[in-house]
Order: sequence, then structure tokens, then C-alpha cells
Amino acid sequence: MKKILVLEDEANIRSFVVINLNRAGYETIEAGTGEEALEQLRLNPDVRVALLDIMLPDMDGFEVCRRIRAGNSKIGIIMLTARTQEMDKVTGFMTGADDYVTKPFSPAELTARIDALYRRIGGDMMDDGEIQQPPFVLNTRKRTLEKNGQRIKLTQVEYSIMRVFMENPGKALSREEILDRVWGRDYFGELKIVDVNIRRLRLKIEDNVQNPVYITTVWGYGYKWGF
Ligand code: CA
Repeated sequence: MKKILVLEDEANIRSFVVINLNRAGYETIEAGTGEEALEQLRLNPDVRVALLDIMLPDMDGFEVCRRIRAGNSKIGIIMLTARTQEMDKVTGFMTGADDYVTKPFSPAELTARIDALYRRIGGDMMDDGEIQQPPFVLNTRKRTLEKNGQRIKLTQVEYSIMRVFMENPGKALSREEILDRVWGRDYFGELKIVDVNIRRLRLKIEDNVQNPVYITTVWGYGYKWGF
């Protein structure tokens, strides 16, 4: 089932949204504060789209968006804005939102926008495949990695890196390419973040970190998955 997080502090608007999304076949997770939303996303890594209200009691929706993006670039984010918040739209896109819906909105409009976003981020969420490259198995539906049948705990970013690797076995990937595919093209950070995450990933998956054989370094270029 397609899971959506609905972050909205006004209970009547939230239940209006939830009822309509349920009717349209979506499973909803509800949150009334930014902290709650972030916690729910940690508990439900299979959420693919988040609807974020902007005016919230603890932090604003842009901050929530920024924090979500810091952890997982793949989730689709739609901001719920009020008509007077024209400037917010601009900021919303800069902090990594994919789309916005202006209040008041009709259920049909909202579900159409969500459906469109789902199609755009597509493929990824619809497959329930496994990529098997012994001793590793990557489950792309559950977003899990096993090595010799043992689950390896990964962050969302580490999972995304593993997926890029396992979809491109034996291919040298530049650090820029990994950054683009995992963090997204509009990520402002430094390339170093790739190295930091790969160092951590190696600690988790290599037999001997001093002599990595699964993720190998391609000097002056990037990394390669292959053994
Ligand atoms: Ca609000």
C-alpha cells in the first residue's frame, strides 16, 4: 500500500486530508508537530510521500523538509501552503520540496498532485524486488540489506548508496555521480559527504575495513562495487 505522512497541526484539516487520501487508496500516517513527523518517518521508512503544513507549533514545515532531506532524498515532499504565503513557495523549493498545494484545496486536486508525484518518483516504490549478489541481498521494497542472511542496519543514505552500487556492479562510479543519485542534483553540500558515508558503510559491510573488497576505491575518481 502507498504510505503517506500527513503533517498538519489543525486537526480538522488533517482529518479532511486523511479521509480523502484513505478513500483514494493511500495509507496515512498522521503527525501534528514537526518532531512527531520526523519520528514517524523514522518508524515508517516505507513512507514515500510526505505532506507538510508550514505553520506548526514547534518548527516550520521548511525546517521539517530540510531535516527530511538531510536523511533521505528519495521521499516525495509536498508543502501545504496558505494563499498568502507566496514567498514560502520559493523557499519551499529551495529546501527541497517537490511540489506545493495551496489551501484551500479540493480532495481531487490534492490526490491528483500526489498521484503525479508518485508517478514521477515512480519505479522505485512499485517494485518489490530483491537484488541478490552473494553474500549480499538488497530488498528494495523493505529497503534492507543482508549479508550471509544477517541483517545489516543501514541509514537511508547508506541504503541508497548500496542500491546505486548493486544496480551498477563492476562499474566505476564517480563521487559526483553518487552524490547526484543519492542526495539529488540540488544538494548543496560537498563531495566529502560521499566519502564519509562510504567509510561508514565499509565498516558495516566489509570483512576487513583495512582491505575493502566489496567497495573499492577508484583513485582520483570514485568508487566501484564489485568483487
Ligand atoms: Ca498549521
